[in-house]
Amino acid sequence: MKAAIVTIGDEILIGQILDTNSSYIAKALDKIGIGTYEMRSVSDDRMHILNTLEKLQNQVDVVIVTGGLGPTKDDITKKTFCDYFEDELVENPLVLAHVKELIEGIYKRPITAINIEQAQVPSKAKILFNKMGTAPGMWMEKNDTVFISLPGVPYEMKYLMDNEVVPNLIAKFKRPFIVHKTIMTYGRGESLIAEQIEDWEDNLPSFIKLAYLPSPGRVRLRLTAKGIDEKILQDAIADEVSKLTNLIGDIIVGFEEDQSIEVVLGDLLKSKKRTLATAESCTGGKIAQQITSVSGCSAYFKGSVVSYATDAKIEVLGIPSELIATHSVVSEAVAKAMALAVQKMMHSDYAIATTGNAGPSKGDADAEIGTVFIALATPKTVIVEEFNFGQPREKVIDRAVSKGLELLYK
Ligand code: ATP
Ligand code: MG
Repeated sequence: MKAAIVTIGDEILIGQILDTNSSYIAKALDKIGIGTYEMRSVSDDRMHILNTLEKLQNQVDVVIVTGGLGPTKDDITKKTFCDYFEDELVENPLVLAHVKELIEGIYKRPITAINIEQAQVPSKAKILFNKMGTAPGMWMEKNDTVFISLPGVPYEMKYLMDNEVVPNLIAKFKRPFIVHKTIMTYGRGESLIAEQIEDWEDNLPSFIKLAYLPSPGRVRLRLTAKGIDEKILQDAIADEVSKLTNLIGDIIVGFEEDQSIEVVLGDLLKSKKRTLATAESCTGGKIAQQITSVSGCSAYFKGSVVSYATDAKIEVLGIPSELIATHSVVSEAVAKAMALAVQKMMHSDYAIATTGNAGPSKGDADAEIGTVFIALATPKTVIVEEFNFGQPREKVIDRAVSKGLELLYK
């Protein structure tokens, strides 16, 4: 049972947008036991799309296409599907009613010919109704291969994957179950963890697999169980997770994909009714960005001062210029002063501050390239840690963001 994912659009191929649709779709398919065999991005070109469909039809059971469904000239998926299935476009009254309701009823705009064109669909297609937009999804079959076309807009695609595609694929193919559990750990390297859990790993039942997914500052351990009885799989996974917790409970920060450090931290701050602010130099606001990616963070996040230039540290945060002159701008003393200043300014319980030299050139700081000082102010005290994350610049920044959050978590 294999799938291929095809994203259509010149925007992807010229690097203007990042193809995030494929990874969402692959994850959703993986959960129902359908492995992705290939991902492709194809230009808005009729022949190119036709050749792709033709080739994949011999190789996989399911082809999911996203993009190029809209009413604009460059959106040619529908017409190409018609060519491929030797079909023609017909107006679908239910889709038309939905488009009218959306445009006239909700957006309060007069309906245009282009909008009406959205209701034109290949006559042989089963329609996947798109509550989130005007372009419907389509499900077509040829020689035992299912072809699904979805809009490119990510939230529309996600809605259709979750509510239409996945249930329909399960009904059609009745897959064996796959149960995943992801354990998030923080602050210990992959090889040390591997050593600690070696015996446990060797004794895992054969239907459970373990994967290490390391990223800066954290390692996710993913357990995957495959079988035909979902209950048995879930019990077995729960059992292994509890064994694992006995071994490395001290570094486990949460479970499941969505429990990233920022979500766990947010829950913790909320439950303790504590607040946070950040003063960021070399991380340029990325810590704040990560924290604010969690909805509801206004309950605990006060805000951030991105004081990148030395002047901004002096003028906005009020760091004494003598302190900077004496200790250098990348120093323990300045990190500490930044954390305390923003904590006071924002009336927060905690504050994280970063100052460092992310490179690649030395700049006006004396500190070695890759050096970062991260300070954490708590209601009682302030601590500072010094790191050297090496190079390149992106890595220094990412590591500093992870370490900043980790410091607070501890
Ligand atoms: P529309 O009706 O809006 O034209 P569409 O089905 O024609 O929808 P596209 O025109 O291909 O879709 O893409 C619409 C927008 O969706 C793009 O501008 C882009 O922002 C986003 N998008 C398209 N494909 C992807 C993808 N593979 N990953 C992430 N975003 C995407
Ligand atoms: Mg479009």
